[in-house]
Amino acid sequence: MVLFKSRLPDIDLPTDIAVWDWLFESSSSPLRCYPDHELAGYVDAETKERLNWAQVKEATTYVSTALVKRYNFRTTDTITLFSGNTIWYPVAMFSVVRLGGVVSGASPAYNVEEMTYALKTAKAKFIATNPASIEVALEAAHQAGIPKEHVLLLEGKAEGHASIKELVEIGRSFGSGGQVQSFKIPSGKTNKEVCGLLCLSSGTTGLPKAVMIGHHNIIAQVSQARQITPASQKKTLAVLPFYHISGLVHTLHLPILLNAEVIMLPKFSMAPMLKTISAYQIEELLVVPPLLIRLLHDPIVNDYDLRCVKRFSSGAAPVSDKVMQLLAKKFPSAGFKNGYGMTETTSCITGFPPELYDLKYAYSVGQILANTVFRIKKDDGSEADVDEPGEILAKGPQVVMGYLDNETATRETFNVDGGWLRTGDLGSIDCNGIVTIHDRIKEMIKVKGIAVAPAELENLLLGHDKVQDVGVIGVPDEYSGELPKAFVVLKQAVNGEENVWHELKRYVQERKTKYKWVTEFESVPEIPKSASGKILRKVLRDREKTAKSR
Ligand code: AMP
Repeated sequence: MVLFKSRLPDIDLPTDIAVWDWLFESSSSPLRCYPDHELAGYVDAETKERLNWAQVKEATTYVSTALVKRYNFRTTDTITLFSGNTIWYPVAMFSVVRLGGVVSGASPAYNVEEMTYALKTAKAKFIATNPASIEVALEAAHQAGIPKEHVLLLEGKAEGHASIKELVEIGRSFGSGGQVQSFKIPSGKTNKEVCGLLCLSSGTTGLPKAVMIGHHNIIAQVSQARQITPASQKKTLAVLPFYHISGLVHTLHLPILLNAEVIMLPKFSMAPMLKTISAYQIEELLVVPPLLIRLLHDPIVNDYDLRCVKRFSSGAAPVSDKVMQLLAKKFPSAGFKNGYGMTETTSCITGFPPELYDLKYAYSVGQILANTVFRIKKDDGSEADVDEPGEILAKGPQVVMGYLDNETATRETFNVDGGWLRTGDLGSIDCNGIVTIHDRIKEMIKVKGIAVAPAELENLLLGHDKVQDVGVIGVPDEYSGELPKAFVVLKQAVNGEENVWHELKRYVQERKTKYKWVTEFESVPEIPKSASGKILRKVLRDREKTAKSR
């Protein structure tokens, strides 16, 4: 077995402490290291509302009390947070994690059907949302069997639904003697066995599954990221969505340990984002590749002074050489860093220590993070050596607990060769330990950095009465990275296929959120399949490549 070990010093990770105690009560907490007036916190860039860590702690403990005493919330209950980024999101999240409960994320773009799937998959008992999404939340709650009183608000007002701010007051009314104690890791257990977060991911195959992220995984990922983050980094712009693990860990948890201010924008829009970068003098900009492309081509960028940005930090999907060249030209004094990982690894398994903050490493995803080991398996099943590409297998404390209620997928993904995680990504490692990702060999499509499961679109299209069989793959797109394309076997040959494609496009648009929309259709006589009936996507991808190269 050829093992590629991290070159960073090992980190000693605690196994007996829960995330809340680690962040807010232990000697690692900024509350123990800084006086009150120096504490950073979460800031809303639009309203300027701000909560420092002491206020987050206070509000959180009261919300915990209200949840238990008013709503009978029990340890292991799950709440789904269905909202854009707001400073009340982490208060709701920590109030549940503090109780030993579980927090799952849902994209605020979900429609009723998608939200119902998310609630059922996470086995949610509560929802916290905002007034703009409450109708979808209520209908989905009804379909998932969640009582409507369990639909709470992160902010704003809606008749009959308590907001987090109201829960703070309800909790406060019980007095400090009525405060609910924080959850402790039960004796005989470690923090590796207690789930704190659930995020949806389709993994290497099939429909989205609920990824169980343990307290230990979060502590490990935050510690690994902290090890390679300059202590001088005192501001973070939270543009990544909180329903994705990268936004959750890198913009909600990590800044607490760094005592770094987190500046939030409730909705993504170019002008407010650029204004905020300049106003708060953001030094490191955490983005996904399509946003880098916007920064290169949108003329509005020229109206703002972005010289404060010392480096761009990218992740979630590959960045093309062309984009890197244009970036170097437009922002000559800015560096670059990249992180690679997946929901199943609590975000990153590679990253850039400061000595790699240079555009010359931009082709890579940096080095293997501390306490993490890779193996690379070649096509023929043999072990790859230095510079040889193959599928990356990983082991490390950030590799999560598994998929909720899905033993088969858990075994197939997390227990390869006796305990290795299959990434579904093709990569190689050079003699300096620099990792390059060459291709994605799993089914997942990435649209603007957001994962789309082909199986979800195939299931939907198979329900249309003109479709006999279908296979969906991602095809390259300059702006979005990839877009879904469907190869379709029609039930009957038709004259003027264009009309059918219009009908199918609309069919998907009416039922799925925008980033999942199928943009291209092609008629084929049959869908290539293996003997066991699995769609041979590689054959479809090769067909597409050949057609495009003509
Ligand atoms: P998700 O679970 O949504 O985070 O998606 C994980 C997948 O995104 C990985 O398995 C990769 O295929 C892809 N990915 C994540 N980060 C990068 C990166 N820096 N470069 C290339 N692909 C990436």
